[in-house]
Amino acid sequence: MTSSFDPIPNIERLIRPELLGLKPYEPIEPLEVLSQRCGVPVDKIIKLDGNENPYGCSPRVQRALADYSYYHIYTDPLQRDVRQALERYVGVGSEHIVMGSGSDELIDLTLRLLLEPGDKVINCQPTFGMYSFSTAVCGGQIVDVPRDSAYAVDVAAVKKAVDPRTKAIFIASPNNPTGNVTLRDDILELVRTGIMVVVDEAYCEFSGQTVAPLVLDHENLIVLRTFSKWAGLGGLRIGYGIFPVNIADLIFKIKPPYNVNIAAQVAALASLADLEYLQGVVRKIVAERERLYSELKRLGFLEPLPSQANFILCRVLDGPSQREGSRQIVNELAKVGIFVRYYDTPLLRNFLRISVGKPEHTDALVGALRRIGGSQ
Ligand SMILES: *Cc1c(COP(=O)(O)O)cnc(C)c1O
Repeated sequence: MTSSFDPIPNIERLIRPELLGLKPYEPIEPLEVLSQRCGVPVDKIIKLDGNENPYGCSPRVQRALADYSYYHIYTDPLQRDVRQALERYVGVGSEHIVMGSGSDELIDLTLRLLLEPGDKVINCQPTFGMYSFSTAVCGGQIVDVPRDSAYAVDVAAVKKAVDPRTKAIFIASPNNPTGNVTLRDDILELVRTGIMVVVDEAYCEFSGQTVAPLVLDHENLIVLRTFSKWAGLGGLRIGYGIFPVNIADLIFKIKPPYNVNIAAQVAALASLADLEYLQGVVRKIVAERERLYSELKRLGFLEPLPSQANFILCRVLDGPSQREGSRQIVNELAKVGIFVRYYDTPLLRNFLRISVGKPEHTDALVGALRRIGGSQ
């Protein structure tokens, strides 16, 4: 018997209608799933699909987490220790800094702060998927302004797209997945629109370029950073934003009080205390990026794009014979336990994105690609 209180049949009437049709974010698969899929044990998988750090975190992080004795105590909602430790690393006062459960959470909090239903966010495609995803979840409307043929932000087109409902412009620099940075002057020109400009610097340790100091002089510039890539803490979820002080205060006001777990904070502190080691790891990855670039180019059927991040985007070239597309290449690589990403969208037709691994990962990948390319 169904009563009028039966919650099942009509429950969707309670859901925000715009979320019922939301396209879910496509996350990468966890190691165990990849391992099961290809029958290669977890420790033999070559995972080059998530821009993760192949060297893992600092050994000091492992020790700090083992030695910490206050996991039963709630964290400091004001995140004083980590923000203080970041002052020197970032070069701005801690009053500008707010920590998030990954920079993903700060994308969401920033949009929650800015958007009323129907407000617009400018997105420069192809780029990171979270900007459009979080905009949709927050009830906003995405305005796509495609990058130019070299994947640079089309500043003139972005300025033209701004209207009274535009609240934010998102720029990843270096951009994921294209790997190029946006010039400081271009960012300053966008800041002059008066709209909130959010520069996502998830990969800035690999490019050596940042606009973080500019936040001190502009009321509408936000820079997002993360420990996920350079410090190898992706699984612990900790990132931070550099905000104008009044915006930082508002983010503190609306964020969940204990948003960053204590393990992540302990790990971030231990990472900042081991900068020399981590910067050595970054240098190794950057050197390997350049070697991977030349190896990919030498294969003859890929066109890698120069990258300032820890991954390389490649176009799969059309050959005289029927070449395999990026999706088939990804499938072939997966069979031998090597995972990379493919893109086959109108803006990125037939592309691969390959994260930079250790030298032995490059060798295994290039060997497998040579076999795949040679088999046609
Ligand atoms: C990986 C990535 C992030 C995610 O960072 P988290 O701190 O792990 O949430 C943010 N922005 C870009 C462009 C990324 O590629």
